[in-house]
Amino acid sequence: MIAPAMTDADLAQRLLAGDRRALARAISLVEDDRPEGWELVREVYPHTGSAAVVGFTGPPGVGKSTLIGALTTARREAGRTVGVLSIDPSSPFTQGALLGDRIRLGEHFLDPGVFIRSMANRGALGGLSEAALQAALLLDAAGREDVFVETVGVGQAEIDIIDHADTIVLVLMPGSGDSIQALKAGVMEIPDIIVINKADHPLTDTMVREIRGVLSLANLDRTPEEVRGSWRVPIVKTEASHGRGVDELVERLDEHRAHILQAGQLAERRARNLRNEVLAIATARMRRKLEEELAEDADFKSLIDQVVERRLDPASAAATLLEREVGEGVG
Ligand code: GDP
Repeated sequence: MIAPAMTDADLAQRLLAGDRRALARAISLVEDDRPEGWELVREVYPHTGSAAVVGFTGPPGVGKSTLIGALTTARREAGRTVGVLSIDPSSPFTQGALLGDRIRLGEHFLDPGVFIRSMANRGALGGLSEAALQAALLLDAAGREDVFVETVGVGQAEIDIIDHADTIVLVLMPGSGDSIQALKAGVMEIPDIIVINKADHPLTDTMVREIRGVLSLANLDRTPEEVRGSWRVPIVKTEASHGRGVDELVERLDEHRAHILQAGQLAERRARNLRNEVLAIATARMRRKLEEELAEDADFKSLIDQVVERRLDPASAAATLLEREVGEGVG
């Protein structure tokens, strides 16, 4: 609840000073799509850009949360502050259930140097990834040096969020063949680092070979110069629940960061991501506006009726609608 004494001006100042309660409140504002939330982001945005944002994706149950817990321990030991965002688009649970159930970060909850937050879909179209990105910015503004963003699955919607990370880690476990298929088929972009967790499994090395195969296939599409100058995707074997392999993952993360900084890729990647973000927010707002306008629109209803009756195809109906709403040349 809002403490009556806490004005928005206070909130921004307290957030920038790293206050955890201010951060929690700020994220709730953007999650609930409140205008004060957007205003707050506007105010603190010039103070963002310092955090190292790492996105973790992969099927449920492979050990992403456990791995993030182990990485958080390592980063804390190195004296760095950490923010964790766990994004679960499919979860019907409330935040409390998510925290208790999904995130295995229990030991970190009492550490003021660690801020953990779960976000689930609130139903608004495009709302979750929008809110997640704003939340990542707020963590950044609050001075978190490492921001870990966890998403479930390898579908398009999840990648949307993960795309905004500086480094993308795909977490798999022996036997999660679907993800290799997704990589092979190009459904998913090649990540920066691949982790095979639960590496005590006998099929681990088979999986490493399989992934190497997929990665070298991907290299066939590039020129030798591109391959030479580019980042070689490392495959790291871990046992997150025992902390094994975590040191190596930390090293690879640091190497990747050094690589993208040196090659100027961080700036490039961020520029591309920010461009996508602006477009995503604009698109989501246009859609919302359109839906509002069309809710009671008789012409639109009759257009849809024609589509339902198979007298007009969907694309032509969309073209008619766009011509009316936006003008010539869009449909
Ligand atoms: P997530 O859904 O990807 O976030 O996976 P979780 O981190 O929740 O882990 C799923 C289950 O796998 C939990 O019961 C973990 O304790 C377990 N787990 C995580 N890492 C390992 C590991 O390296 N080896 C084994 N055997 N189990 C693990």
